[in-house]
Amino acid sequence: MKLKTEILFVFLIVGACLTIVTGILYFYNARSIILHSAGNQLESLSAAKKHRIESIISKKEEELRLVQNRLFQNQHLYHLNMYGKLNDTLCVSYRKLITKNIKKLTKEIPSFRNIHVLNKAGVAIASTDTGAINFNFSILDFVQQALAGQNNISSFIDEPNDNAYLCLSAPLYFKGNLQGGILIETTTDDLKTLTGDYTGLGNTGETVIAQLISDSVACFITSTRNEKKNLHKITLNKSAPQAVFLALAGNEKLYLDANDYGNQKIATSCRYISTTQWGIVTKIDMTEILAPAEELKWMSLKIGAGALMVLFVLSFILSSSIVKPINKITDAAKEISQGKWTRRVEINSTNELGDLANSFNKMTDTLVKTQENLELKLIELDRSNTSLEKFAFVVSHDLKSPLNTVLSIIELLGTNHLGTLTEEGRQMLSILSQKVDHMKEMIGGILEFARLGNLQPTTELLDLKQLLLSMAQPLREQAYIEICSDLPKLKMSNILAEQLFQNLFTNAIKYNRSETKKIKVGANRDGKTIVYYVTDNGIGVQENYYDKIFDIFQTVAPKGTDSTGIGLAIVKKIVESYGGKIWVKSTHAEGSTFFFTLPQALFTSIG
Ligand code: ADP
Repeated sequence: MKLKTEILFVFLIVGACLTIVTGILYFYNARSIILHSAGNQLESLSAAKKHRIESIISKKEEELRLVQNRLFQNQHLYHLNMYGKLNDTLCVSYRKLITKNIKKLTKEIPSFRNIHVLNKAGVAIASTDTGAINFNFSILDFVQQALAGQNNISSFIDEPNDNAYLCLSAPLYFKGNLQGGILIETTTDDLKTLTGDYTGLGNTGETVIAQLISDSVACFITSTRNEKKNLHKITLNKSAPQAVFLALAGNEKLYLDANDYGNQKIATSCRYISTTQWGIVTKIDMTEILAPAEELKWMSLKIGAGALMVLFVLSFILSSSIVKPINKITDAAKEISQGKWTRRVEINSTNELGDLANSFNKMTDTLVKTQENLELKLIELDRSNTSLEKFAFVVSHDLKSPLNTVLSIIELLGTNHLGTLTEEGRQMLSILSQKVDHMKEMIGGILEFARLGNLQPTTELLDLKQLLLSMAQPLREQAYIEICSDLPKLKMSNILAEQLFQNLFTNAIKYNRSETKKIKVGANRDGKTIVYYVTDNGIGVQENYYDKIFDIFQTVAPKGTDSTGIGLAIVKKIVESYGGKIWVKSTHAEGSTFFFTLPQALFTSIG
């Protein structure tokens, strides 16, 4: 991956992670703040509503007491109980008096729908509703309680008429003795006004008051916000009890994940009024409460995306400002490596990259100076090598003629004066002859090697295979020579090629004690280069001499072998003059292989 892409990638990954983590933290923080404040609001609204409902109940209690007091000392009821014949004229007039009294009370207190006066058995003996006269109300719990001496306020679900109203019931006494009771039906208008006030409850919030009508069914005694019907019944969902049932179970607390009567998720604050056994639920839909959090989420996503875009642009600019100078330096380094020594990097910034460019330029200056020095040294070395080679050439050439004279004298001594010499003298003459011969060979070798100093590797087209076949011909009696058929043609000096292979063939035969001496010549492809080889089954070369044997006068030949240590030095010089390399691999007593390459001589490749 390129540095620029890497920087962009790292910036984007880090930026995206930071944005996502910050966004998530911010969102959940905001969500919990919103829930907390909605909860607080619901709790305070619910407490206020409960307080007001309790005030309404207190007011009803007072009204009940007022009615009770008015009818308390009423002897009419006593007489009715005493002589209770309903059609009796006296009784009729008593009843009329009581009815007149209660009608007056109904007018005084507008929330009263009807007042029924009951005898001890719970039968209505007087009522503002003539249809209710003689009806036995003792079937109602709260009537029974009133006849047992207890004041009571209860809600009554009037299912046939689809209505709910409040019933106030109380006992009636005369001279300390229970004479019967009163039952007052009042409207739930006060409660409806209270629950119909949605202030602070948003668009979905409301307060409902409910009572149980069985263990698993509750009924609202006030209407709901969206459905204005009077009686709303709900059945308990046992796996997730609705908020109403939580309130009716006496819980007074905040729920942030409850269900409403329509199984919507809501936040609710529940209250319970024990005197009337009402559950009060003040709630707002969760979707409404969390709407700002949702809005915030989308806004955060947009801001995050925007921030990432900005980050992308910034990281692009930053990565460009870092990578550009580096690219400049890389380009300059490439050009310098191609020999454009004058190339310098132009970076005007004062930061670390500017310093790097300056150091690079200084390094290039130093390199140029070193290169110039090196070139001067090479010229000097070349000069001294040339003079050395000239010297070697002159010396070896000049030494040749006195040596020839010495050889002629030894020859004369051997033919004309051998008889005059003692046995020891003859032996010494023989050794002298051998050593002079060796010296002559060495001088010849030096001369040959020195001549190569002036070598200009020519590039005439050479059929290598043909050359090797003609060279192998005279050696057939000494060794079996195999020449591979797929040798490439070369552009190389014929003489040098002959010199090269001659030395290798001579060595392969000279340093070989096998009964049948074998030599193989071939070439292999190694990637783009072609590697030639000459293999023999001779005595081999020890590994520690692999390099040494290519130096001039270095010989590791066994004693008695006529060796000057010049042959491989000549071979190496020829190979290197064509830009090649030479090396050896060998197994002791099994043979050696000399490998070499000739890149500048290569003309056609082998298949
Ligand atoms: P010379 O011309 O005297 O043979 P070279 O320079 O050709 O000298 O060889 C140097 C030394 O490398 C030899 O003295 C010999 O020990 C060793 N050498 C060269 N060719 C072979 C070979 N084919 N097998 C074993 N040893 C070899």
